[in-house]
Amino acid sequence: MNKKIPIDYDRATGGLSRRSFITGAAAAGAGALAVSALAGCSPAAPTDAAAGAAGTGAGSTGSTPSAGIGAFLTPPSPIEDSQITETAETEVVIVGAGVSGLSAARAAAEEGAKVIVIEKAATWQYRSAQYGCANSSVMKELGMVWDTREAINELQKEMGYRADSRLLNRWADESGAAFDWMVELAGDNLELIPMDALEYDPSKITMQPLHWPAPPAYDITKEYSPVYPSVITFLPDQGPLLTLVYEKCLELGVEFRFSTRARQLIRPNNQGRVEGVIYQTQDGGYGKVLASRGVVLCGGDWGSNREMLEYYVPWALRCINFFPNVDANGETTNTGDCQQMGIWIGAKMEDGPHAPMTHTLGSVLGTDCYSLYNAGGCRFVNEDVGGQQLSNQIYRQRSDIAWQVFDDLYPEQLGEFPDTHGNVNFVKPDGQVAHFEGSELAVGKSSMITREEINNDPSVVKADTLEELAKLMDYSPEAQTAFLAQVERYNELCDGGKDLDFGKDARRLFPIRTAPFYATRIEPGVMLVCLGGLTVDPNSLRVLDPEYQQIEGLYAAGNAMGGRIVVDYPVVIAGISHATALTFGRLAGQSIGQS
Ligand SMILES: Cc1cc2nc3c(=O)[nH]c(=O)nc-3n(C[C@H](O)[C@H](O)[C@H](O)COP(=O)(O)OP(=O)(O)OC[C@H]3O[C@@H](n4cnc5c(N)ncnc54)[C@H](O)[C@@H]3O)c2cc1C
Repeated sequence: MNKKIPIDYDRATGGLSRRSFITGAAAAGAGALAVSALAGCSPAAPTDAAAGAAGTGAGSTGSTPSAGIGAFLTPPSPIEDSQITETAETEVVIVGAGVSGLSAARAAAEEGAKVIVIEKAATWQYRSAQYGCANSSVMKELGMVWDTREAINELQKEMGYRADSRLLNRWADESGAAFDWMVELAGDNLELIPMDALEYDPSKITMQPLHWPAPPAYDITKEYSPVYPSVITFLPDQGPLLTLVYEKCLELGVEFRFSTRARQLIRPNNQGRVEGVIYQTQDGGYGKVLASRGVVLCGGDWGSNREMLEYYVPWALRCINFFPNVDANGETTNTGDCQQMGIWIGAKMEDGPHAPMTHTLGSVLGTDCYSLYNAGGCRFVNEDVGGQQLSNQIYRQRSDIAWQVFDDLYPEQLGEFPDTHGNVNFVKPDGQVAHFEGSELAVGKSSMITREEINNDPSVVKADTLEELAKLMDYSPEAQTAFLAQVERYNELCDGGKDLDFGKDARRLFPIRTAPFYATRIEPGVMLVCLGGLTVDPNSLRVLDPEYQQIEGLYAAGNAMGGRIVVDYPVVIAGISHATALTFGRLAGQSIGQS
């Protein structure tokens, strides 16, 4: 999901405002057109006032104040027995009631275990709607099938081969069954509607494929940056379905303790098995749950923990944190509690680099790979890559923005673009609506657009000449000059059929010559979650210590678990975050339930 930031948005980091944007563009020091189309596109001089404007500072990310670099690694004083006022006994404790925690609770209970779920928010949590599984029944029915090992190799390439391929194989082999297991709860009330359907029955659990079927020209084997058709979306979001999962848990006898925060794991002297969890209730009092089979950590990520961000991925402090869920005290929930509790009792935090999820879904034309120009008017990347890579590049441009530029022939070009997470491939006739109002798809991107929507979108500027367009893009005179030269250069490359500058696929080189001309801003993606978890054994899903020995009685799933997403969040398989939370939540629940 991408949040549009208005042009006057003034980042807490002192980054982008209209003023700094213009200053930055002016300072880009575009060279004379006569010298070379690229002359104005070299890095700005060090005196450039805007050059450091988007650097770190009082970042807007991370709601938990910093206590010093790495301080969170030091275990806090143990909560003594004398402070504990209540004790419960069970077989399994699950920490966290998000997608992974609910799945783990249901699976463990289905194995016959007695389960208590501890959740620090006032109720169970979720967000959004998209699941990226492989080979679920509905995907097979739709023909959304592909070679999962090829897909994993692509995932690994984007993640520097730092994820655990055995875990990714388990996602590939088990996520379809996990998805079927989840949606079976809807029974006859489950409905599948096609990608271009614009109505759905809110009384049903409705599934819709995203970007499927693909346009006829799309051939995944020819893609430099392949994105597999993976996403099934729930409408209006996954809330109605998770309600059924929660109710199923209750039916199976799972006990939920809301507004209750797990604080420490019980593992005497950090030796042997984990025996349970110490928690804190709303009134500040402590209690503990002893769990004869153990604890499953499902507490999510740490994108709102400033201290962890500073330690693991300081550059992510620049990103705008877009995590919406809060606990019973109004604090954002994704504070890495489970990773920390694990580290304190001797678990291994997976090796990084850790991966903030910041993929952009692009502009009104999504991430369709029209040429992009930065604040200095310069092209800077092969645009034919996924939303996460585009976001990475845009974050490395002055003022953190890019302009996507296209001409009036776009309706006949859209079908030539890849069919990826953020792409728009179909033009519908004017008068039709391409998006659901008020649903996830109205906020994100579907595969379709109408000319009316382009013309009416406030983020689009339109002009009859490129010179006029450049002015509407708020470019300084120097940036305008650079931009015009760069478009000329780009058109020459298109005529020659080879992108000598950035190597974009020749099939997607469309010159910009037919008026009117359009430009629309793409901001980098906001940060949704920051991924990095505890290392687990790929079979048992037990957490490992730094010697790669299994810690008895301790399991992890979802974003609390490592080994899935490292380095970057690849949109090779969009929706894989929910899908792995579901799959490994289920598998961890089964594993502990059978232990
Ligand atoms: C706006 C937004 C949109 C997204 N869209 C998508 C998408 O379309 N597709 C996709 O795949 N992913 C998406 N994601 C990411 C996805 O939502 C998460 O990665 C995924 O849900 C993680 O599931 P989880 O169970 O690991 O964690 P969570 O869903 O975060 O659940 C963790 C739970 O643990 C609780 N908890 C934490 N610490 C404690 C504690 N100490 N004691 C008790 N309880 C605790 C939390 O309150 C929370 O309820 C999106 C994220 C955001 C922010």
